[in-house]
Amino acid sequence: MNILYNSTRSKSMQVTASEAILKGLSEDGGLFVPDQIPAFDKSFQELSEMTYGQVAYEVMKLYLSDFTAQELQDCIAKAYDSKFDTEEIAPMTEAEGAFFLELFHGPTIAFKDMALSILPHLLITSAKKNHIENEIVILTATSGDTGKAALAGFADVEGTRIIVFYPKNGVSPIQEKQMITQKGKNTYVVGIHGNFDDAQTGVKNIFGDKELAAYMAEKGFQFSSANSINIGRLVPQIVYYVYAYVKLLKEERIKDGETVNVVVPTGNFGNILAAFYAKQMGLPIGKLICASNENKVLFDFFRTGTYDRNREFVLTSSPSMDILISSNLERLIYRLTGNDPELNKDFMTALGNSGVYSITEAMKESLQDFYGNYADEAETAGTIRKIYEDTGYVIDTHTAVAACVYQKYQKETNDQAVAVIASTASPYKFTRSVMTAIDDQYHKMGDFELVDELCRLSGTEIPEAIREIREAPILHDHVCEKAEMKQTVMDFLGI
Ligand SMILES: *Cc1c(COP(=O)(O)O)cnc(C)c1O
Repeated sequence: MNILYNSTRSKSMQVTASEAILKGLSEDGGLFVPDQIPAFDKSFQELSEMTYGQVAYEVMKLYLSDFTAQELQDCIAKAYDSKFDTEEIAPMTEAEGAFFLELFHGPTIAFKDMALSILPHLLITSAKKNHIENEIVILTATSGDTGKAALAGFADVEGTRIIVFYPKNGVSPIQEKQMITQKGKNTYVVGIHGNFDDAQTGVKNIFGDKELAAYMAEKGFQFSSANSINIGRLVPQIVYYVYAYVKLLKEERIKDGETVNVVVPTGNFGNILAAFYAKQMGLPIGKLICASNENKVLFDFFRTGTYDRNREFVLTSSPSMDILISSNLERLIYRLTGNDPELNKDFMTALGNSGVYSITEAMKESLQDFYGNYADEAETAGTIRKIYEDTGYVIDTHTAVAACVYQKYQKETNDQAVAVIASTASPYKFTRSVMTAIDDQYHKMGDFELVDELCRLSGTEIPEAIREIREAPILHDHVCEKAEMKQTVMDFLGI
């Protein structure tokens, strides 16, 4: 089956997988979506005997039709190697009646590594396949984790440069330290005075600037995106849901074909959309449980059918979910319209103009696969403390939002199906919030003292990503206004 990619906003654009990866975003402002969802060509039994890399190949080959087997296998081999601190790549831990799928064993200890360790290789391969001579400039807005994972993935990758914008006061101290200590001649990190949505809007505007694109091309550059709108990120994220399922099967925790629920702490809607695609491919997923923090725009959307970003933006202890415009939701909306780009475009235009749109009753009907809820700050902290006290297992703030929402779901529905909770960050990445949730006394300690204390409490090793930044010098200190982002990019490129 040969999969091509359409834009969510017009019928005229149809591109290959490698072209979609190179472009990131479609020129009409839409997102690329596969023209059909492929089905598995291996049984779950067969997949259950495979390593992570082998499962990755079996899933990704179905979507990246124009990659040769050799090209894709090379990309996978370069991505899922000893950069991860466990051979399993995505291990599971059972605690409090659920399976925590730990997606944080990569170089920057957040789940973004699952996709961003392979994206640079997919991108370079795509450039070669399409005879691109320009230098590729990765432009990224980050709520904290994407930035570092993208920087780590692209640092010193030949033929690429990477520019990351982050909200100056909207990321955790460790997240910021991780980014501003990034090495690599081709890396550039900039704080902006604004929040994540401002950063993301700024980046989207730069991408949409046709004059700039033409000028860049003259100078031998072209933009691409490492944000989760790139299908080169979405596709690798489908893999771990399949891997988790077949691992539960192998360990006889479920029967072949048995339905499991998936719980995902959600921001930009990329991770849960990957689970939705997995379900559409035939993976036996029951409910897709979408967990939000106090920025609960998605919870409200699932409840009412109205998406409304006009509300106060709340800074929470789960900053990677502090998002009011969940970009990847557009891909779901498009599917709900029956793949109608005109209708989808109307919704997105309304979102752009007034910040609100309401889907039709018929579309709302087909949202049955999803359940949405949220956890406030006190509930999130309480969940970390309770799971630690009950089991000794320490989870990060984002994962705690998911664990809390899962408990709410179970109370409401009494659904006893096996549940997989996407554990999206290491507790070491959000040490202060995690430790003060466990005991308020920890307020008094310094950041790195807390790291040592977490190590003692949890009996887990301090990850390399944290050990490394203790001593690392600050290499990036640039801050700009929202309105200066374009100029900042041009300055960095020297054009
Ligand atoms: C990015 C991120 C999320 C949100 O994932 P989306 O794909 O944007 O919904 C959740 N938790 C952590 C730790 C993250 O880094």
